[in-house]
Amino acid sequence: MRLTVFIIASYLFTTVANASEVVPANVSLSENDRTLMAWVDSHANAILEELRQHVDLNTGTANIAGLDQYRERLQSDLEQLGFATQTHASAAQAILTCGGGQMQFADHLIARRQGGNGPRLLLNGHMDTVFPHDDEFQKLMVSEDGTLAGPGVADMKGGIVIMLNALRALNAQGLLKDVNLTVLLNSDEEIGSLGSRPLIEELAREHDIGLVFEGSWGNTVTRARKGLGQARLVVRGRESHAGGAHPDGVSANLELAQKIVEIEQLTDYEKQTTVNTGVMRGGEKRNTVAGCADAYIDMRFPDQAAGEQLQKGIKRVAAKQFVHNPNHPELPITEYWSVLHRPVKPADRKVDELIALAMGYSVLIGEPITGTRYSGGGTDGSIAQAVGLPTMDSLGIDGDGAHSSRETATVKSLIARTKLVAVLMAHLLVQSE
Ligand SMILES: [Zn+2]
Repeated sequence: MRLTVFIIASYLFTTVANASEVVPANVSLSENDRTLMAWVDSHANAILEELRQHVDLNTGTANIAGLDQYRERLQSDLEQLGFATQTHASAAQAILTCGGGQMQFADHLIARRQGGNGPRLLLNGHMDTVFPHDDEFQKLMVSEDGTLAGPGVADMKGGIVIMLNALRALNAQGLLKDVNLTVLLNSDEEIGSLGSRPLIEELAREHDIGLVFEGSWGNTVTRARKGLGQARLVVRGRESHAGGAHPDGVSANLELAQKIVEIEQLTDYEKQTTVNTGVMRGGEKRNTVAGCADAYIDMRFPDQAAGEQLQKGIKRVAAKQFVHNPNHPELPITEYWSVLHRPVKPADRKVDELIALAMGYSVLIGEPITGTRYSGGGTDGSIAQAVGLPTMDSLGIDGDGAHSSRETATVKSLIARTKLVAVLMAHLLVQSE
């Protein structure tokens, strides 16, 4: 029974529609497109070397120095392509944990080229990865069969290198003159864009089409995405000696453990809602009743109402009291914080048109996109689309194993997707509105 449920759930989370390799009538390769593709082929070694340099520079979300260095590099690359750049700071945020503290964000990068009356494109990516500066997984490895392994190679340094080189190819053909292009690279995507969300929303409102360079799994593109939320609980009890003063203690661990059991029951695969307590910590010593415990929880949902339901459910359990000590009836105390940080990204007619266009070009380029996907993962494209910007995401490199030391991608996809993005942008930038 359990297995059946699991199989159904996996299916729902990764549904891939079959691609037909039919090229729409409005899609064909021009001489210009072929020149763009030839530019990419003749720069293939340099593109791979550039990806190595990006991956080898650690940019874990908390590694502010690494992210500063990466941002300066990208800033200079984009300035060389005629972009005017600026940085944007997000204020530090308090974190609800037993230890408290503040979350610092590295600056985000905005680069613009403006001119003419063509559609305004917003190219979006994130510079941060999930790998801290002291992680064992730090360097790009290239196998003879063209497999790339490295931290953030798919999520999403491959995508950044693809975007950058597509822009270079366009620039070499003089196709960046009189275009409206904005590149937004944020530094906090991997913690839910908690700092950069207002910036993403502001820029999304100023543009007509959004392209996001997150990795593409199995050479697919993502058509729709679940919404995401997060919650934190801190339970404060009372420390006491586990031997001499056991009745005087109020165990924060016991209280949190019981809360988590109830919170996890909010998962409902049929409704496609899931809750995951990814982190829980509590106590200091074996022989002390735990004075404080905290948890960090993830939520996924198929529509906004379901997200709000989950949020309410967690809040309700947070307010319940499981541990009662008549000597300290006011304890334990539970603090709660939550945010639905990524809206649901439903299928959208304009995005479907972009997908059809990209699929058509991918066939002509010789690396056909294999299908579209409904994903349980969220991206900044969900934030942009929720404020009205039709956004196509997963234009980045074909990869696997993101957020783990098994993260891989392929050289073949690095080159094919660079061509695809160059050709797609060339088409979109000259489109009349
Ligand atoms: Zn990512």
